[in-house]
Amino acid sequence: MISTLTVMSTVPSVISSATPSIEVTDVIYEVNDQGDLTIQVTGNLIGISVDISQFHLKIPEEFEVATLVDGSPIMKFIDNGSAQKMMLRENQLTTVFILRTFNSTLLPINYTFEINSSSLYYSGFITPQWPQQEQSQAFMGGVGASVSYFDDPYITSFHAYDSDKGDTEHVKTYVHNPSDYNAYNIQGMRYKIDSSTYNDFNDWTQTYSESSGWIYFHQTYVVHDYLSPMFTSNDGLSRYALNTGTFTVTEVYTYGSRLFGGGWNDYYYPSVSEGEFLVSVQPGTHPVFIAYFANSKWWSEGYSDPATKITEASRYFSSCYSVTLLPMPYSLYWYPPSYYTTSQLLTNLRIKAGDVLGLTGNWMLIDGTHPDNHGFDVVAGFTGYWSDHVGAAGKNYLVVTGGSTIYGNRLNDPEVENVFQHELSHCYGAKDRWDWEFWYGQPSVMSKPLGMFLFNHWGWIDYNIMHPRRGQFDGA
Ligand SMILES: [Zn+2]
Repeated sequence: MISTLTVMSTVPSVISSATPSIEVTDVIYEVNDQGDLTIQVTGNLIGISVDISQFHLKIPEEFEVATLVDGSPIMKFIDNGSAQKMMLRENQLTTVFILRTFNSTLLPINYTFEINSSSLYYSGFITPQWPQQEQSQAFMGGVGASVSYFDDPYITSFHAYDSDKGDTEHVKTYVHNPSDYNAYNIQGMRYKIDSSTYNDFNDWTQTYSESSGWIYFHQTYVVHDYLSPMFTSNDGLSRYALNTGTFTVTEVYTYGSRLFGGGWNDYYYPSVSEGEFLVSVQPGTHPVFIAYFANSKWWSEGYSDPATKITEASRYFSSCYSVTLLPMPYSLYWYPPSYYTTSQLLTNLRIKAGDVLGLTGNWMLIDGTHPDNHGFDVVAGFTGYWSDHVGAAGKNYLVVTGGSTIYGNRLNDPEVENVFQHELSHCYGAKDRWDWEFWYGQPSVMSKPLGMFLFNHWGWIDYNIMHPRRGQFDGA
């Protein structure tokens, strides 16, 4: 689907050389279904006469307007800047370029072009202008575009890109300012995401804040956001993870302020082709989304953030099974009683996870990713209280405690990663073993008791169980 974003009015050009020039008659901006920007320039060559074989028009590399600190481009040609289409007939030229924006960008931008024939070289500027208000209303694109205030900015187009599990979800929104005189900024964007794979998954993301300044009259802002793969809903009541499958952005909301007072906002309802995106597991990888809880005793006992321990354990899972453990961006709180057994802790965790993640029921158990768990794969609970054991696990959940009353030993911080690795291995089917299976001369992480767990290797028995199941959290 091609939606016309904007049609340009007549734009004069300035040529640096003496007599020959290009009189630009139209610059048309379009957004294709990939969310890329198509720029079509039409005009007349004046003062020279060349045929198509002599004529080469290109927009120079400087059109890569700028790069960010990390070297990533803001805007870049598809196909290295060569025109997608180029016509010259009786000195009337039409040329089409397609550009992809990578970062939030204000349009239009001034750009230069070159004419390179065998004997002549010219360069000049094109300074596009956005159309008058009535034109922009007429050409307003998108299925669900709405105008909340006659002159206020509105969303004209949207695109969500396919992504890999664990990566940010890239979305692009075009916001146009039709006003003749007023400038606006964008203070925030939110996206309502729906899933057909995961149940009860239809909610607004947190707000993504745009801080790139003002949209002046007849400008359009291309807003790029990179959505966190595990996110908290805007109302703070639910949490979601973009696990594998098809998702759809069904609604886009933006708001900001006016230069001349007050605020504005707009809702947009993308068509399916605009809003739908697929999340896949990159071949050869097995990312696992882990929601985790820690109680106040965990912190007061001086333990590290469980996320760092999960990340440490991930090194071993990664090298052996290509499994990458991805903890939520922050720790969640739970309040298990101090006297609970690990079995009771597991039950408590299921109830708490259901509440805090906003599930319809408790955390659901399954060997793999359960469609009722909002896209999360595993839930882990950390408590600083002692329990009967230092850890316990079931199909897709586990707990780690501050010490074992049975063995009379405190769990020290450096051992947390090891216990976590042991417990998560249970989720992959590995069993406790009291004999020491040797693996290159060392006992297995599943061997116990051994004082505390001090070994990160898996024995061959564990490996033979876990390796075939390494993809079990690849999605529901
Ligand atoms: Zn065990």
